[in-house]
Amino acid sequence: MIKFSFSRFSFWGALDGVSFQPEQKFGRKMGVNEDQQKLLRTLPGVDYLLELTQADPFFKTVPNSVVTRSIRLVVAELRKSILDDSQNTAGKNLSDETIIQKVRERAEHAIHPNLVTTINATGVVIHTNLGRSPLSPDAVENLLTIAKKYSNLEFDLTKGMRGSRYSCIEEILCEISGAEAAMAVNNNAGAVLLCLDTIAKGKKVIVSRGELIEIGGSFRIPDIMAKSGGILKEVGTTNRTHLKDYKNAIEDNTGLLLKVHTSNYSVVGFSAAVTLKELVALGKTHHIPVMEDLGSGTFIDFSKYGMIKEPTIQESVATGVDVVTFSGDKLLGGPQAGIILGKKDMLHTIKKNPLTRALRIDKLTLAALESTVSAYRDENRAIETIPTLKMLTMSFKAIEMKAVRLCHLLEDLKDPRLSIQLVDLSSRVGGGALPLLELPTKCVAIKIKEISANAIEKFMRKNSTPIIGRIEEDCFILDPRTIQDDELVIIGTAFENLLKRT
Ligand SMILES: *Cc1c(COP(=O)(O)O)cnc(C)c1O
Repeated sequence: MIKFSFSRFSFWGALDGVSFQPEQKFGRKMGVNEDQQKLLRTLPGVDYLLELTQADPFFKTVPNSVVTRSIRLVVAELRKSILDDSQNTAGKNLSDETIIQKVRERAEHAIHPNLVTTINATGVVIHTNLGRSPLSPDAVENLLTIAKKYSNLEFDLTKGMRGSRYSCIEEILCEISGAEAAMAVNNNAGAVLLCLDTIAKGKKVIVSRGELIEIGGSFRIPDIMAKSGGILKEVGTTNRTHLKDYKNAIEDNTGLLLKVHTSNYSVVGFSAAVTLKELVALGKTHHIPVMEDLGSGTFIDFSKYGMIKEPTIQESVATGVDVVTFSGDKLLGGPQAGIILGKKDMLHTIKKNPLTRALRIDKLTLAALESTVSAYRDENRAIETIPTLKMLTMSFKAIEMKAVRLCHLLEDLKDPRLSIQLVDLSSRVGGGALPLLELPTKCVAIKIKEISANAIEKFMRKNSTPIIGRIEEDCFILDPRTIQDDELVIIGTAFENLLKRT
């Protein structure tokens, strides 16, 4: 409670909390003119503004820490805008009402949750910016169950002693993949780093030039190699690498043959790559371990569903490779995780690396991962229940029906400004998987008289449940492939609001 009354023109020191250094800001260097100084002096102090907020019913519902911080930030912003703009001091409105309004907007923004669900209408199924794979109902249920209670996370209930964090997923991963041993860490980038650090620290790692990938978020094979202490030995050329290139590069200090799945691009035309099987044979002859970073990693052969063939995890494991790594939240359709499969001895060594602790997988992730992987015991069930798989294999007919339903919802708004069209476009797999694959889809293209596609896009993005679409040829485009059935109504309401507003 504020008991004292403060004058509006309090001194600068009241604003310490926002890393404000009066000497620096008002020093000769800044060249603050007289108008600016006058304006700066009229800026109210935090305590004065706090008192004003006490009288306002809105702020009664807002925690004190939020109010104070909002005030500090607003005052700091105003000061910066005065200092930055020496020409336009006359145009500054620094009335109590304006400032309190700004504080209110900031506080309103601050008390809203920042991480919210969005509607993915982009047609990019594994959209990294939108959180990659939504979880299956089973995975969500298991995650909630484990989240609420204690669990046997690292407790062996049979022996009554400390157990392994990986035991809940190791069996099922081995069963489905055919691997001898399995574990999981925070993400696949972590899995690759951990494996290289364990196997190849201070040793040469042979990689084909055509596989020195960069995926989004600054994950580059050469950089991750450097971080792990492995010494990169590139072989072959960008488009062609032969077995003899690997063979000729092998020397005493060679610690690993690494194959990286070029998940987000394709080398086509005059190209040649060495198969994992050939590499494994070469590694055996020279007693050098072989590792594959599969990137996306799938248990399902997508060519059965009319898509381009991706190498499956089972196929990799069957070659006898020492270690395979892949993501949990790309084609697998589970939570963010990096899964490591391979030979028992190798996995045993990796589990003992102290980095494993730093990259430790969380129990909620494990819960979701266990359910997701279990679904693969029955491929049909996996495709029906794992949203990523369901969206990827969705029939054109089913997409078209959803598009028509969305059209009807919008037509029901009966607004003459609205023009709606069904258009044939393509969806994308995303997540750096199957880069060449274009999945035929039926989109809803929307135009509104006197509202630009950019303005529609912005309004939808700022909807209480943000709707993320794309713009093509001046139309706002919604791809039903990635829109869930219960989201259609929300989209309808958002358009209703947009049309009402303008
Ligand atoms: C995506 C990817 C990674 C990184 O996986 P995250 O789970 O995003 O950390 C590593 N390697 C390849 C080949 C990839 O495609």
